[in-house]
Amino acid sequence: MIALKEIRKSFGRHEVLKGIDLEVEKGEVVAILGPSGSGKTTLLRCINYLERPGSGRIRIGDVAVDCGHPSKKEIHRLRGRSAMVFQQYHLFRHKTALQNVMEGLVVVQNVPKEEARQRSVELLEKVGLGAKLDAYPSQLSGGQQQRVGIARALALNPDVILFDEPTSALDPELVGEVLAVIRKIAREGITMIIVTHEMAFAQEVASRIVFMDDGAVIEEGAASEFFRSPREERTRQFLRRMT
Ligand code: ATP
Repeated sequence: MIALKEIRKSFGRHEVLKGIDLEVEKGEVVAILGPSGSGKTTLLRCINYLERPGSGRIRIGDVAVDCGHPSKKEIHRLRGRSAMVFQQYHLFRHKTALQNVMEGLVVVQNVPKEEARQRSVELLEKVGLGAKLDAYPSQLSGGQQQRVGIARALALNPDVILFDEPTSALDPELVGEVLAVIRKIAREGITMIIVTHEMAFAQEVASRIVFMDDGAVIEEGAASEFFRSPREERTRQFLRRMT
């Protein structure tokens, strides 16, 4: 359902993604692990076209983009197929939780306001924020803000949700509530790609692990196998450091 082929990305002369191939099936939860600087966030941002890959092909559902020669229309359609949950939440500061979730529905998807409102309320209830609809981000904890971010992503009804280290900006005591929400939506069969440093969480929630180092996929496999018997020495070293 999602297929990346030979994705390459450079910043100046630094090649950060060196030909990434990755396929993700509908309903799969894939965790991308790897050392700092290995290209995990850049890869996610390329899938969403927040970064423009230098070359390669991206397919999400029925939208396919040749990254060497993309048309604006294709990029626009591709962007509509995924939603991103950012490390730093990226909420509109001057909008309430409810308005933040509604925004994409009304502005991007042209959903009538009342319908968007109803849907957003349901989603905020789902992430445990039914009592905070009218709160502004500054009145919410980091964990609550991130849950608004997750509701906002869900609202767009994307083919895949891309999580970029969704808990790494949080105080340790707030990590659990965000992971619980991600766990819950994973069980509902939503396709997700999650960049995370939370090894225990990746092991629990992901069906498959992709390990990146230095801009390349070094190893991938079922989560149980990956942690029990990593094949590559670089993976073993990484896991020794992280666990
Ligand atoms: P971390 O786990 O620390 O978030 P990562 O694996 O997600 O790391 P990326 O953030 O994708 O790694 O960065 C990969 C490399 O690309 C790093 O060397 C980084 O400095 C570089 N890089 C990322 N974004 C830019 C940019 N906008 N301009 C220049 N270099 C960048």
